Amino acid sequence: MTRGRLFSRKKELPPIIRLHHPTGPIDVRLRFNPRAKRLILRLDTRTGEPIATCPANISAEKVGQFLQGHVDWLVEKCNDRQPNMPFEHGAVIPVRAIPHTLEHEDEARGTVKLLEEDGGHILLVSGNESHMNRRVTDWLKKQARQDLTASVAIHAEKLGRRPSAIRIKDTTSRWGSCSADRVLSFSWRIIMAPPHVLDYLAAHEVAHLREMNHSDRFWAHVADLCPAFEVGRKWLRDHGRDLHRYGVED
Ligand SMILES: [Zn+2]
Repeated sequence: MTRGRLFSRKKELPPIIRLHHPTGPIDVRLRFNPRAKRLILRLDTRTGEPIATCPANISAEKVGQFLQGHVDWLVEKCNDRQPNMPFEHGAVIPVRAIPHTLEHEDEARGTVKLLEEDGGHILLVSGNESHMNRRVTDWLKKQARQDLTASVAIHAEKLGRRPSAIRIKDTTSRWGSCSADRVLSFSWRIIMAPPHVLDYLAAHEVAHLREMNHSDRFWAHVADLCPAFEVGRKWLRDHGRDLHRYGVED
């Protein structure tokens, strides 16, 4: 084998490898990452597309063999995944874990109104339909800020530490964070989870204002602020990923 083959680089890997399966072909996008320790196959959190992260020194042939060997697993993963749910007319989305139906109304002024009818919840969105996704996202961000601000205030008061600011972001890797200058950041998607989960997340980040780590001391603070924290933590582990398919085009 030549040295060139052994030290296969990005340029030698195709962008996509097509796998064969009895139910039909399945395409896997290849990403080259020289820092990767091994080949990792996963579904993209947002789009559900199969992605293989390839380390350095791996040949296209090796990648193909590995992926084909995992094709049953991959097809099962793809089938398990719920479809994305863009914010469009007729979509049903959770807000504080309660299903809300999105309805579009042809009116010039762009607003979002919450209607509660016969036990059903409707989010009535007016204005240009092409702006619906952004409008609903903005409304959810506002709700998230409102609930998180209230939750953080209660925990901060109890702990005796105040954050310098609260930021609402769209992060896929983390639900929340606490910076050295006491800024607490949260993903707006937490507003779709049950309120006790949002409250746990707020308590978790507030506790970092005392302990910038995940030591026993840190968890003791969390337990103090939010006695049922284990339930919220487990919910995020089990269902958190599912909240990333809302407001995303398929
Ligand atoms: Zn933490």
